[in-house]
Amino acid sequence: MSSDHTPFLLIISAPSGCGKTTLLKELFIRVSGLGISISHTTREPRANEISGVDYHFVERALFSQMQKADKFVESAFVHDNHYGTARSSITQLLDDGLDVVLDIDVQGMKEVKASSLFNAVTVFILPPGIDELEIRLRNRKSDSDVVIKQRLENAVGEIAQAHLYDYLVLNGLIDEAADLLAAIVQAERIRTSRSFLLNHDALVKSHGMAK
Ligand code: 5GP
Repeated sequence: MSSDHTPFLLIISAPSGCGKTTLLKELFIRVSGLGISISHTTREPRANEISGVDYHFVERALFSQMQKADKFVESAFVHDNHYGTARSSITQLLDDGLDVVLDIDVQGMKEVKASSLFNAVTVFILPPGIDELEIRLRNRKSDSDVVIKQRLENAVGEIAQAHLYDYLVLNGLIDEAADLLAAIVQAERIRTSRSFLLNHDALVKSHGMAK
């Protein structure tokens, strides 16, 4: 696919149960030219999850082997499970001219930002409140009380680091939040440092501009 800008990574982090999956679906409906990085995890699949679509579900031994072989751009231990972004999950998409969405946690965001390999745009999705988050986690009916408690504690810790992100999106009304996310992507695509518009021969000639 040809692109009018240098493709970039879009890191989206949100506390568990924040409605991020629905929000990402809405983003993909609104904006074309996006790909999504499918993470590797040692977590057990939930009832509705498909391996190779939601995650690459792998055994701990394979995950460790991949870590040792430096296959991950970043990896983290979240809620007692390992998660990681394989280099191969993003490079092909970037080479195809797609902007790549990474749904990763705060630790992963810091690791990607610290590596000078990628110039990532980062967005933190805020829940309307902790009470609302608890209701959403309970309605999901996929986690035990202990796990829900752990996810809520993690949420508080993650929200405390939201200031490290480039953008904050409050996920109250899903349509409004998805519109904001789409606007962020569109604006980042026309950043002067990424846009190919000034490299366009015809444009340069018609304006008599030096290249
Ligand atoms: P869940 O188990 O609910 O699917 O995800 C739990 C948390 O792990 C979420 O905050 C999600 O963003 C994060 N996560 C998923 N994949 C990755 C990954 O590849 N790397 C990192 N660092 N976090 C991930």
